[in-house]
Amino acid sequence: MTARDVVQKVDEAGLRLVRFLWCGNDGTIRAKASSVRGLEGRIESGIGLTVAMQAMNALDQLQPVEGMGPVGEVRLVPDADTFRVLPYAPHLGAMLVDHRQLDGEPAPVCQRCFLKRMEDRLAERSMRLEVAFENEFSLATQVDGQYVPIDSGLCFSTISATAAQDYVDDLAAALDAQEIGLEQYYSELGHGQHEISTPHRPALQAADEQLLVRETIRGIATRHGLVASLAPKPWPENAGNGCHIHFSLWDTDASWNRFHDADAPDRLSADARAFIAGVLAHLPGLCGLTAPSFNSYHRIIPQYWAGAFVCWGHDNREAPVRVPSVFRGMEEASTNAELKAADASSNPYVAVGGLIAAGLDGLEHGLEPPEPVEVDPASIPEEEREQRGIVRLPATQAEALDALEADDVLTAALGPVLAESYLAVRRSEWATYSAGDEVFEQQGHFSKY
Ligand code: GLU
Ligand code: MG
Repeated sequence: MTARDVVQKVDEAGLRLVRFLWCGNDGTIRAKASSVRGLEGRIESGIGLTVAMQAMNALDQLQPVEGMGPVGEVRLVPDADTFRVLPYAPHLGAMLVDHRQLDGEPAPVCQRCFLKRMEDRLAERSMRLEVAFENEFSLATQVDGQYVPIDSGLCFSTISATAAQDYVDDLAAALDAQEIGLEQYYSELGHGQHEISTPHRPALQAADEQLLVRETIRGIATRHGLVASLAPKPWPENAGNGCHIHFSLWDTDASWNRFHDADAPDRLSADARAFIAGVLAHLPGLCGLTAPSFNSYHRIIPQYWAGAFVCWGHDNREAPVRVPSVFRGMEEASTNAELKAADASSNPYVAVGGLIAAGLDGLEHGLEPPEPVEVDPASIPEEEREQRGIVRLPATQAEALDALEADDVLTAALGPVLAESYLAVRRSEWATYSAGDEVFEQQGHFSKY
């Protein structure tokens, strides 16, 4: 699509504003909107933004990062192909943007450009990563300043699904109107917890659509007088909200699933094993990208099905890397792996870019994964766990960020500007939330993700 095509669609739909959406180092989604007047020019040359925004944490506290102070501009340049009319907001459209320098080159901090770089590295090997996100979220009303879940039903309970049926009907329609497929919906274990899954897409498209999905989940809730939250641990005593990332590698020359080997007992190819081995080798640091907030580590605890020990397993919901069994009759198409140590407080470009960097390291070095774990890792005696390298994942945001900083493969892939600003932003959140109480933590995450 060209800028002209977008303007035509905007006119046809009678829109007044088009949001230029981005996701920062803090994982929150922000936007500046263009009116119809001057839209074509803004699509081409972007909207200006202070360089400081990428040093802003999820509390709007600006961090001291070199080159990200009060002086200087980047341009928010949209990708016209991502244009959508937003069905949950009056006369409003949206596009996803790159952060570009004034000369039009990608800004070194641009998270979307980081993911494109990782896709290019895969393309050099005739591969592309297909990705699908499974979003769990909580629906609540606000009573006396408290978030109260809309249901207290059981896992997959139709009573909970009924409590949310009007919301879910509008959500399904809104996703459809944006040409974002919906695969499944169900009410989940936690009170007020619901889940949707969307189809797999090439990595960049999946990350773009993940931002649109997060916006839609919350936007439809607002129209229903509800609050939707994708915060990793919405209530301290309730089930966590995961955002599991399913992934598989496809051949770009002849479109086949390179994760699949019909002759392997578990159908996993050598490429799949090497990629998974890379992900496991970098998992502690990768958590700093995929489960990056203070709140994330109240979700990643043993026996909450989020995966708390470094391991992989077949159909093992306590393994942070789960290999789901294939569907009969759709064996090749359904071969994939799932990263469970991931939540929607992450920046999806950074999370998926990090996943690719880790997997590529496995491919480049022909790594072999350790023995799969086919039981709950918490049930394995500590001594045996240690011997098998089934170590605990980071237990706090601070530990995850330390592991990230120590991971040369991940930081080199991010590049110095993105790595430094990302760590500064996320570490400042640790400093603020670790000095506060549970109520402060909940308020700070529930309404921001
Ligand atoms: N709610 C769990 C999590 O935090 C996942 C439950 C499931 O396996 O779907 O990731
Ligand atoms: Mg689930």
